[in-house]
Amino acid sequence: MKKYAVPILMLAVFEAVAVTLWLTKDNIFYLFNFSYIGCSIALGTFLFIRNNRHARRVVQLLVGLYMLIYLGLICGENMQIEGFWYYLFTGVFEAATIHYAVAKIFGPLIFGRGWCGYACWTAMVLDFLPFKAPQRPRRKLGWIRYVAFALSLAFVAALFLARVGNIERIMFWAFIVGNVLYYAVGIALACAFRDNRAFCKYICPVTVFLKPMSYFALVRVKCDAEKCVSCGKCRRVCPMDVDVTDNSRNRKNGTECILCMECVRNCPRGAL
Ligand code: SF4
Ligand code: SF4
Ligand code: SF4
Repeated sequence: MKKYAVPILMLAVFEAVAVTLWLTKDNIFYLFNFSYIGCSIALGTFLFIRNNRHARRVVQLLVGLYMLIYLGLICGENMQIEGFWYYLFTGVFEAATIHYAVAKIFGPLIFGRGWCGYACWTAMVLDFLPFKAPQRPRRKLGWIRYVAFALSLAFVAALFLARVGNIERIMFWAFIVGNVLYYAVGIALACAFRDNRAFCKYICPVTVFLKPMSYFALVRVKCDAEKCVSCGKCRRVCPMDVDVTDNSRNRKNGTECILCMECVRNCPRGAL
């Protein structure tokens, strides 16, 4: 059972959130929502442990499509960062504020950027592109994410300051337009930089939350220095340019790790 500790931990965390929110908010939707996401993530990590090479993609599609199609398009919830600002300004702790608290602000203290590897509906599409391992050196463009973060905040703040009516409707359309933009920019960047995850590295505003919190993550890939022969394979296959052979929290691009396990799968010595 020990080798299944991660899926069991994931399921337990999400079930705890599901039951807590169901009881405190008296809304059974939360039980269904977080149980579904927890089961999907636990299934993915379970399949990974069983050496299924599609494990991560299975959970990415299960969660990503659920959030994009069901929550976003059918239920009309803007789960992007603009939706988070909107609910935060209205003082309501539900939908995007809960999603951000669990997946992107406090959750990363446990599972780091697991969201980025297993659930994000933007990366769900980008990961179909052919540049799985970056084919060019990383560029110093990470500052753009802070601009995108500030713009998203300014956009929603301006709607409130200008007392625009029916902001909820605007949020729905912002979700659609925002997603189309994300996909267009993400695919264009991936092709230009020959790197599926270029959007994640340079543009995505959510990383402003994810990076500092995942610095303290409980779940991390670690290297056994006694087994490692410094072949460099893990670095070559890593979509996020992480130096995973360094076990310190300050390792190069350490807060970029999305727990995709490509390094683990490809290490010829089983050192990770
Ligand atoms: S960095 Fe942003 S776009 Fe990329 S996977 Fe994470 S949340 Fe999604
Ligand atoms: S792939 Fe394995 S053996 Fe090679 S450098 Fe990475 S951890 Fe070491
Ligand atoms: S390849 Fe390894 S170090 Fe790189 S993002 Fe995936 S799990 Fe993290």
